[in-house]
Amino acid sequence: MRNKVIKRWALLTMIAVLLLAIVGCNPTSQAETEEEEAQRPIIVQGPMPIEAEEFAQRLEDVKEENSGTFVFYKGTLDDYPVIVAKTGKGMENTAAATAIAIEKYNPIAIINQGTSGGHDPELNVFDIVLGKRTTNIGSLKTANKDENQGIHPTEWKPMDLMASEGSAGEDPDAENIRYYEGDKGLLAAANAVKDTYTKGKVVEGTIGSADVWNNEVDRIKWFHNKYGTSVEEMEGAAGAQIAQAYDVPYLGIRILSNNKTNGGQYNPDTAAANQEYVYQVVSEYISTKKAE
Ligand code: SAH
Repeated sequence: MRNKVIKRWALLTMIAVLLLAIVGCNPTSQAETEEEEAQRPIIVQGPMPIEAEEFAQRLEDVKEENSGTFVFYKGTLDDYPVIVAKTGKGMENTAAATAIAIEKYNPIAIINQGTSGGHDPELNVFDIVLGKRTTNIGSLKTANKDENQGIHPTEWKPMDLMASEGSAGEDPDAENIRYYEGDKGLLAAANAVKDTYTKGKVVEGTIGSADVWNNEVDRIKWFHNKYGTSVEEMEGAAGAQIAQAYDVPYLGIRILSNNKTNGGQYNPDTAAANQEYVYQVVSEYISTKKAE
């Protein structure tokens, strides 16, 4: 009786081991895993609801995931995984949402997009700037002044917090502008579809970011001349810094929703127009990835 039970167990164990071996060697399941690994998602970030939800609605099979206040809409575009991240406004939100997205989803590339204010009088509301470079325009060191010597913003110097691990206040090497380069592959995809955009022009330029809304035209001009900024917004450089820390390709794409330097009034419809264009960019980038 006991022997019979043991024999039956031995037989069942053998069958189970055999089944596991067959499943393990199954070529289709292995191929599926490889395909999943090859299909690292593209992340499209937008700060405000009007800057993210339009794009999220265009995805197929969307599942919503939340982390803190950040919302990730996981779906597909042309059968390729794309995640729209609603990050919230500002540098801190963007930095945190970027790090979380990289850790959680292992993206192949990140596009940070949304509205911006013009620093270049040649650019009009509805024109789009591709961030060939992105820089933090809130990272500044003031001049040395004693009491009653006043406040002199035009004497402030750029401060590069990435120059070293030592004190940025003491280090003269830290008195430089830090530019984050936009990814070449993403820039190429964006340039390839720029003719599909008809509401304005699409140009390469420099995006400046800080948790500041500049309304002083002389200050805007100062940034434009000193940093070469085309537009300002409140997110791009924060995402760029984190993407660089993890070596993930990154590009800022910003539409002008306002331009104080030439009287361009704020127009919230620009947010949707930018998402329409970025949709074309992502689709183009996917087709180049599929062809690789
Ligand atoms: N005017 C908007 C405020 C938006 S807050 C409203 O009343 O709802 C700022 C957001 O818009 C940020 O996400 C920033 O990236 C973007 N932005 C657009 N124009 C800007 C500008 N001139 N300066 C700074 N941020 C700007």
